[in-house]
Amino acid sequence: MADLDPEQLDRYSRHVIMDDVGPEGQAALLDARVLVVGAGGLGAPVLQYLAAAGVGTLGIVDDDVVERSNLQRQVIHGDDDVGRPKVDSARDFIAQLNPDVAVETHETRLDAENVDDLIADYDIVVDASDNFATRFLVSDACTLAGVPFSHGAIYRFEGQVTTFSGEGPCYRCLFPEAPPEGAVPDCATAGVLGVLPGTIGNIQATEVVKLILGEGETLEGRLLVYDASGMSFEEVPVAPRSDCPVCGDEPAIEAVAEASYEGRCSLSD
Ligand SMILES: [Zn+2]
Repeated sequence: MADLDPEQLDRYSRHVIMDDVGPEGQAALLDARVLVVGAGGLGAPVLQYLAAAGVGTLGIVDDDVVERSNLQRQVIHGDDDVGRPKVDSARDFIAQLNPDVAVETHETRLDAENVDDLIADYDIVVDASDNFATRFLVSDACTLAGVPFSHGAIYRFEGQVTTFSGEGPCYRCLFPEAPPEGAVPDCATAGVLGVLPGTIGNIQATEVVKLILGEGETLEGRLLVYDASGMSFEEVPVAPRSDCPVCGDEPAIEAVAEASYEGRCSLSD
């Protein structure tokens, strides 16, 4: 038995009895360090299920406070948390769910100055943000550092999710540039079906668990597009681009300081 105490053998018994997980897999989950960028719509299910699964250390980056309009979808926060920092509300939720999990809160906005230091402490990064600036920043920093990361995004009835190995392709291979300011509706006015981030965030959490266990086939090389209205999933191939400025043949960006990241939306709306 890989160092699981009797309480852990009980808590994780449905993992431990699986051949694909077992005590070794559970020990790997307990040893893993995952950074979740955003404790909002996507971050809520990601944090909830990774904590329940016993991922031993969860870092949370978010600089927002809980607003009442978040509660329609951000299920780890409650009515009493309105006005509190999301990182504090998330930490309390996780402590109540699973005391095995160490939570590291980073009440800050992820930017080109702090991203390298933040991701250096973690094995896997989950992009649960809501804006293009943060998506490019996470992708660039993780790809330059070789850290695997999960990408998820939601809009009205639609969601998309994929996994990047950190070795390329990267998010810029999929979307070379952010859409021009104003081309995509402002985050606060776009609207999102409350249940949608639950589906996309749970797929992100599933991918993280598989990466830690080294089991199954991840979404690497595939963008999964979910239409909640028609209740359908589609796959779009994600191929490396030789002209990608980060992971291509002649990269123009060799450090995040060399790119510009601008965005006006909150990290986790
Ligand atoms: Zn790329």
